[in-house]
Amino acid sequence: MKNCPTCKAELGDEYSFCNTCGTPLFLAPIDASRSPVRKKRVTSILAYAGEMLADIIITILSGV
Ligand SMILES: [Zn+2]
Repeated sequence: MKNCPTCKAELGDEYSFCNTCGTPLFLAPIDASRSPVRKKRVTSILAYAGEMLADIIITILSGV
């Protein structure tokens, strides 16, 4: 058993990432194929960042 350094959630030793907040639990190389939830979360964050960036660019181009 170990604890997430960020949110203090209790996690089994088999976890590479906190399943609550996604914090990596150690700095070893990550096997992405074993972390489908993490991969999905990253994808949604990238999609969100893309939307934010588009918003910023539109704001700049409109001269505000
Ligand atoms: Zn956590």
